[in-house]
Amino acid sequence: MTDRDLSGRVALVTGGSRGIGRAICRRLARAGAWVAINHSSSDEAAAETLALIRAVGGEGDVYRADVSSFEATDAMFRSIEADKGPVDLLVTNAGIASFQDDVDMPVDLWRRILSVNLDGTFHCVWCAKEGMLARGDGRIVCISSANGLAPSRIRPDRLIAYGTSKSAVIGFSRNCAIALGPAIRVNCVAPGLIDTDMTSGMSDEIRQRIIASTPAGRTGTPDDIAGLTYFLLSDAASFITGQTYVASGGLVTLP
Ligand code: NAD
Repeated sequence: MTDRDLSGRVALVTGGSRGIGRAICRRLARAGAWVAINHSSSDEAAAETLALIRAVGGEGDVYRADVSSFEATDAMFRSIEADKGPVDLLVTNAGIASFQDDVDMPVDLWRRILSVNLDGTFHCVWCAKEGMLARGDGRIVCISSANGLAPSRIRPDRLIAYGTSKSAVIGFSRNCAIALGPAIRVNCVAPGLIDTDMTSGMSDEIRQRIIASTPAGRTGTPDDIAGLTYFLLSDAASFITGQTYVASGGLVTLP
């Protein structure tokens, strides 16, 4: 990996307006990629991400689209291609969670979580794959969750819909790695507890219990996930596909 080894590449990061997605946008921009920042709800936050990209000498643009809609996702890919060229680095990071106890969740909540986290991932990969296959080169990282590998026994809320959606993202990425190789590499990143807006409502008591069970002795930062994602998109990971990497400070370990 060199300083600017993604120069000339067009990257799309879904959910890039804040949190983990924002850190990934910055990391890829630092490596020279032109970054399309997708989000669904805050033009202001997305503009801040663009400003941060420019502050590290990068470039990109903002694309508002709800990835749970195939039509909106397809239109976004067409706009990016018209503006800058086809997407050759894709990070499916957009996601939502409900931190209530899912045991009594309404059917609509199940559908919404699955439609953003799973359908949204599928829509993006489907829009990206044809061009990547034709060009013989594409790199995809899907952001799952440690919760997709092991349901938390610490948190009081039972994240049935969220955990299911994130398990399915892992299964989807593994299947895609086999179906879309060798042209396209597809890997998954499964973060543990990362300090972002998504997790800011967690009580301090639960946070401390999670930290006490984490060998690294802390929660994660968005940059912890951005570094791993960048590595998986880089040439240094050219022999890695179909894998899931857990970045949870050791809270969850694979068998
Ligand atoms: P966040 O809530 O801070 O940011 C989510 C981003 O996704 C925002 O930019 C938002 O605009 C975007 N988004 C939401 N719905 C969208 C939609 N329908 N279409 C397009 N964009 C949409 O969340 P975060 O903590 O940065 O999480 C990012 C990803 O990492 C998510 O997939 C999340 O499930 C996963 N993750 C987070 C944690 C954590 O502890 N924060 C742990 C494991 C996995």
